[in-house]
Amino acid sequence: MNIAIDGPAGAGKSTIAKLVADKKGFIYVDTGAMYRSIALYIIENGIDVDDDEAVKNACDNIDISLKHVDGIQHVYLNDKDVSTDIRREEVGNMASKAATKKAVRERLLNLQRDIASANDVIMDGRDIGTFVLPNAELKIYLTASVMTRAKRRFDQLTEKGEKPDIDKIAEDIEKRDYQDMHREIAPLKQADDAVYLDTSDLTIDEVVEKIISLA
Ligand code: C5P
Repeated sequence: MNIAIDGPAGAGKSTIAKLVADKKGFIYVDTGAMYRSIALYIIENGIDVDDDEAVKNACDNIDISLKHVDGIQHVYLNDKDVSTDIRREEVGNMASKAATKKAVRERLLNLQRDIASANDVIMDGRDIGTFVLPNAELKIYLTASVMTRAKRRFDQLTEKGEKPDIDKIAEDIEKRDYQDMHREIAPLKQADDAVYLDTSDLTIDEVVEKIISLA
């Protein structure tokens, strides 16, 4: 079985998908982590993201793989575990730019489809229900207001001891939403057959229960 979860940055997709995967015994696949890995490579190698040929060369030279250890996804970029490095804000913003490029999207599509065809998966991203897995048995479009998403991110960073600026977080979220929804290839949008779930006023448990019952 394949479950697709799409939605904007910070809607809670990964938290929810991990919990549903645990309860159902499915593999959780975080496709954003794959885009982030390519973004990390672009940053670390000083590649101009708008130089299409350089980006294509980069895609030809990198190997991305996922391993699941105790149910937790680890991402490897050329055999190095980059699971922590890819979480930086700067990497997320670069991922959104890199994700507009055809070479990048083509590079990741087969990897995502192969994992889904061989396993029971719950896969999250932006184009899973619309493009990567159009035949997924269940599709969810998970969202929340910009302020709710900014506040969740603010709380996460504060908990880590950082001193974030909530207005800057909200501004970055809006910028990323706009970029993801307006790009030419596989933009973020709700699939016609996806269930719309606004999580602004729901607890994590309520959202998980809802998805389990739909599944
Ligand atoms: O979900 P996450 O914030 O980790 O994703 C980082 C970026 O990767 C997104 O802003 C989006 O531009 C891109 N992405 C995508 N398609 C996916 C998953 C992520 O374009 N399926």
